Amino acid sequence: MPTLLLSSRNAHKAEEIAAILDDRFTVQTLVTFPDAPEVVEDGDTFAANAVKKAVEITAWLNGQPLGQARPDFVLADDSGLAVDALGGEPGVRSARYAGGDGNAPDAANNAKLLREMDGIPDGNRGAQFQCVLALAALGQATEVVTFDGICRGSIARTRTGEGGFGYDPLFIPDGHSRSFAELGQAVKNEISHRARALAKLADHFASN
Ligand code: IMP
Repeated sequence: MPTLLLSSRNAHKAEEIAAILDDRFTVQTLVTFPDAPEVVEDGDTFAANAVKKAVEITAWLNGQPLGQARPDFVLADDSGLAVDALGGEPGVRSARYAGGDGNAPDAANNAKLLREMDGIPDGNRGAQFQCVLALAALGQATEVVTFDGICRGSIARTRTGEGGFGYDPLFIPDGHSRSFAELGQAVKNEISHRARALAKLADHFASN
C-alpha cells in the first residue's frame, strides 16, 4: 500500500483524512517527522496555502536521508469557513480569526464569529466550509495536483455539540437541523468539504 504523509499538525484534520483514506494508503502524520519545517501560511487563498505546504514539506523530505521511511506522497489540507454576510470572512484566517499572529483557541474564534454575526437574521446566515487538498509525489520534480470541496450550510446562534473541531459547533450543514459537532464524525465524513475534496482525490488515483 502506498504511504501518504499528511503535512498538517492539526490532529483533528489528520484524523478525518485518515478515517476516509486508510483503506487505500498507509497514512503518516508529521508526528513521524518532528524536524519538518513549520510552513508559514501567508497565501491569500486556500489553494495557495495548500500548495505551499505540500511543496515545502516535499522539498524538505527530498533532502533527507530517509531510506524506507520516505513516504510516496505528501498531502496538504488548507481549509476554513467563509460566511456570506461577512464577505467570505474568516476565510484563510479561520484558524487565527480571534487572535493576533498565531492560531486562536476554537472557543475564542467561535465567540468572535457569534459577535460579528449578532443581529444578522436567520435568512442571511449562509456560509460554506471550503477545503483544498494539494498532493505531491516524492522524488520527482515537484508537481502538485489540487482537489477542492465545499459544504454549504448556515451559522447557528449558539454553539451545540461536543464533536469535531473548529467551527463545527456553529455550522449546520444544509439539509440538517443539527450542527456538525452534534451530527458526529460518521455523518460529517460523508458530506463535509474535506470528504468532497477527498472523493476527488480518490477519483484521481482510480484514473491514474
Ligand atoms: P488551517 O489549519 O490553517 O487550514 O486552518 C483551518 C481552520 O479552519 C481550522 O483551525 C478551523 O478553525 C477551520 N476549519 C477547517 N476545517 C474545519 C472543519 O472541518 N470544521 C470546523 N472548522 C474547520
